[in-house]
Formats: sequence, structure tokens, C-alpha cells
Amino acid sequence: MTSYTVINPATEQPVRDVELSTAEQADAAITRAADSLESWRAVAPADRARLLRRFAEQIDSHLGELAALETAGSGHPAGAAAWEAGQVRDVLTYYAAAPERMTGRQIPVPGGIDVTFSEPVGVVGLIVPWNFPMPILSWGMAPALAAGCTVVAKPAEMTPLTAIRIGELALAAGIPPGVFQVVPGKGGVVGQRLVDHPQVRKIVFTGSTEVGQRIMAGCARHVKRLTLELGGKSANIVFADADIERAAATAPYAVFDNAGQDCCARSRILVEASVLEKFMALLEPAVKAVRVGDPRSAETEMGPLISAAHRAHVASFVPDGAPVAFRGSVPDGPGFWYPPTVLAPVAAGDLAWTEEIFGPVVTVTPFADEAEAIALANDSPYGLSGSIWTSNVGRAIRVARGVDTGNLSVNSHSSVRYWTPFGGFKQSGLGRELGPDAVDAFTETKNVFISTE
Ligand code: NAP
Ligand code: MG
Repeated sequence: MTSYTVINPATEQPVRDVELSTAEQADAAITRAADSLESWRAVAPADRARLLRRFAEQIDSHLGELAALETAGSGHPAGAAAWEAGQVRDVLTYYAAAPERMTGRQIPVPGGIDVTFSEPVGVVGLIVPWNFPMPILSWGMAPALAAGCTVVAKPAEMTPLTAIRIGELALAAGIPPGVFQVVPGKGGVVGQRLVDHPQVRKIVFTGSTEVGQRIMAGCARHVKRLTLELGGKSANIVFADADIERAAATAPYAVFDNAGQDCCARSRILVEASVLEKFMALLEPAVKAVRVGDPRSAETEMGPLISAAHRAHVASFVPDGAPVAFRGSVPDGPGFWYPPTVLAPVAAGDLAWTEEIFGPVVTVTPFADEAEAIALANDSPYGLSGSIWTSNVGRAIRVARGVDTGNLSVNSHSSVRYWTPFGGFKQSGLGRELGPDAVDAFTETKNVFISTE
């Protein structure tokens, strides 16, 4: 057995050692989850709902502890970490309503009656990345448990602390052991077992497109159900008729939140050429005003990157001679800091245009008209999110329909709202999470015909 030392990215100091599970331990957890399936799905809907609400209450009464743990272990600013812990509570509460509403259909047929049931798909393997350890865990966990599935969750190796604590809080809430288990470990060991083990009937994976492709191939061997949430390279499209002041003031937060380690980051700003100069003049003070610093401070808007290796990766997209238009500042001393950075001009095809940098680096590119804006936005193998800034309703709708991406906002940068479906077009993913239909992704439709003859 080996262990992993979680490092505080803001101080580079060790936080805690976490034991990495072996393949055998992963198998044992999967067996426990499979053994718990019959009794969990047999829990009466109202009781399953009550247990999920109690789980949400446990999260709620430990919000501060969970947020502080994320700040220490992942470097997330205190305000963001508190929102993330609250998201776990809210997603559990939202899907607690589902067990009592899993109605099937009654379909008119000759010679009898025909009804459908939504049966739980079985053991779910939930593989979580390091960028949003708590919310992404909850998006899979809550609807899966509501559907009557049991869950084995593998947090990212670098950020396991909040998931481990959430696993303890599930037990404290009365969720039976074996129904929700957190198994920290390496992707190639624990994650791989979840993909390969025949008793895991569905994988929910959020992470890089590269690993997602391998997981999809692995799932094919068992025809295993699969939801993928992968990378992004989303566009923030600013038309000349928009409220340019607001568009410029908000653009930094659409890409530098979570230090740009956000699959929904609007990392390509497209600006109508006639207002480019005005937009850039307004963007510069907005970028310089982003408060980068100690994540424990309530004032801080952006913290450090997750690791030294990731910082080196981000920095590789800004080599000497890169067209840095302007950038923000970072604290001195230890920590994996990287300043908010604006690259312009950047042409379609440049590395900073095509690659998901996953750090606080944004490109600015002008466009001539609506058709070119849509074409540039779609010039990516990804299609996860995006924003459209315009005061013309017809244009907003035309462009929203024209951009091949799963989540768009108009005159706003909101993307992930647990009430609404979330997921990607093209290589940004497969399937949808959240919203009113998420439980369907954890059930199989069973059709039963009953003869009346
Ligand atoms: P990653 O390297 O793909 O890892 C994601 C998870 O998969 C981790 O838990 C990892 O474990 C595990 N893993 C690695 N190899 C595996 C294997 N062979 N079998 C099973 N599991 C394996 O991604 P990341 O670097 O953590 O996260 C960044 C990426 O996630 C970005 O591309 C980002 O866009 C994407 N993302 C997408 C969304 C979305 O909703 N679309 C949301 C957030 C992030 P280890 O930690 O041990 O490597
Ligand atoms: Mg990785």
C-alpha cells in the first residue's frame, strides 16, 4: 500500500497523507456495492428520499468544515469553496424529490395493459477530476442514489479530502454502508478497476478527453453504460450592440474563476472588430482588478493552480514572445501561482486557440460579422459552454442555435445550474448530467405487458 501526500497549493505545505487503495481493495468495494444493491433498491421511495434529505442536512451542518478542507487541499478561495459545499447539499436535496416521482408509463395496447418501470442500472462507478472535487462528485452521486443505484466513487488522487469526508457524512446520515463508498486511489488502478469490473454497470467520468476516450473503449467490452464530461474550449462572443462595459467587466470571471481550471471556462473571447479597441481598453482594468491571493481570505477571487506540474503545463502556452496584451498579478513566495493573462492577437490555429489550457489564460480574437462569430466559436473539437453578449434578441437566438455547444448563456456567464441539463457536444462529452432528467441516466426502462385475455 502506498500513500499520497495532499499538498496545499497556496503554501506548498503538506496537508494530510491519504492511503491509496489497491486494485484488490477496489474490487472489495465493488463487491460490497453489488451486495448492497438489492436492499437499497428495496428501500421504500419515501424512506430513500428521507435518507437523501438527511444526507443533505449532514452536509449543511458541516459546510464550513468541508469548505475549509477544499481551501486547504485544492486552493479554492473560501467563497468559492463554500458555494461548492452548498452545491452538494442542494443537489442532494433536489434529487431527494426523485424517488417518489419515478413514475413509469401506461401505454395503450391491444389484448392487455402495458406498463414501464425505471429500474436502477446497478453499481455505478463515479470517477471525479481534481478541479471541482465536491460539485462533480455530487452530480453523479445524488441522482444515482435516488435511482436506487449503489455508488463507488474515486476522487482525483490530488484532491481526495472532501470526498472522503462526504463519504463519512453519508454514513452519519444513515445511508447504509456499501451504498455509497469513496475509494481514493490512482486512476490507473482504482479507476481502471471500475471500468473493467463486470459488476459495475455504469461509469460516470469527468476529466480529460484523452482519458475519457480510453474509458469509453474499456466500457465497450461490457457494453457498460457511460456518461462522459470532458474538456472544453468555449467562446465568449461579444457583439458591437452589447453592453460592452458589462461584457468587459464580467469576462475575466468567465475564464479566471477557479484559476481557469474549469471545463466551462470561456477561454476564447471573440469580439466584433468595430468595438475591439473599446473592449480591450475596458478589459485591461477588469483583469488587473481580479484579486489573486490567499484562498483563506473572503476577499480573494482567484487562488493558485493545483500543482507545480500543472503550472508548468499552463506556462508552456505562454512562451517567450507570446502576444501578452496584459496580465494581472500574483503573490510572492510559495504557492503554484499563475497570473491572469490575456493573449491578443491570436489567430485560429495557434496553440493557445486550439488547446484547452485549463489555466488563467484567455485569447482575444476579432470577428467581422455574425456568420464569422459562429464559425470561429465552432472551430474546436470541443463544445461544452459559451456566452453571447448582444442586445438584439433575434441575434441572441440565432447565434445560440448556431453554436454547437451544450450550455450557452446570453448576457450572462452562468452555466452549471443544477436545475438544468449540463453536458457537451462533440468531444466535450456524452450524455447529460443534472436537471430534471438526470435520474434517467441511472435507470433502465423495463416494459411489461400483462394480458387481459
Ligand atoms: P483526468 O486526468 O482525465 O482525470 C480524471 C479522473 O480520471 C481522475 O480521477 C483520474 O485519476 C482518473 N483516471 C485517470 N486515468 C484513468 C484510467 N485509466 N481509468 C480510470 N480513471 C482514470 O482529468 P483531470 O486532469 O483530473 O481533469 C481535468 C480535465 O477534466 C479537463 O480536461 C477538464 O475540461 C475536464 N473536466 C470536464 C468537466 C465537464 O463537466 N465536462 C468538468 C470538470 C473537468 P488520477 O487523479 O489518479 O489521475
Ligand atoms: Mg490528469
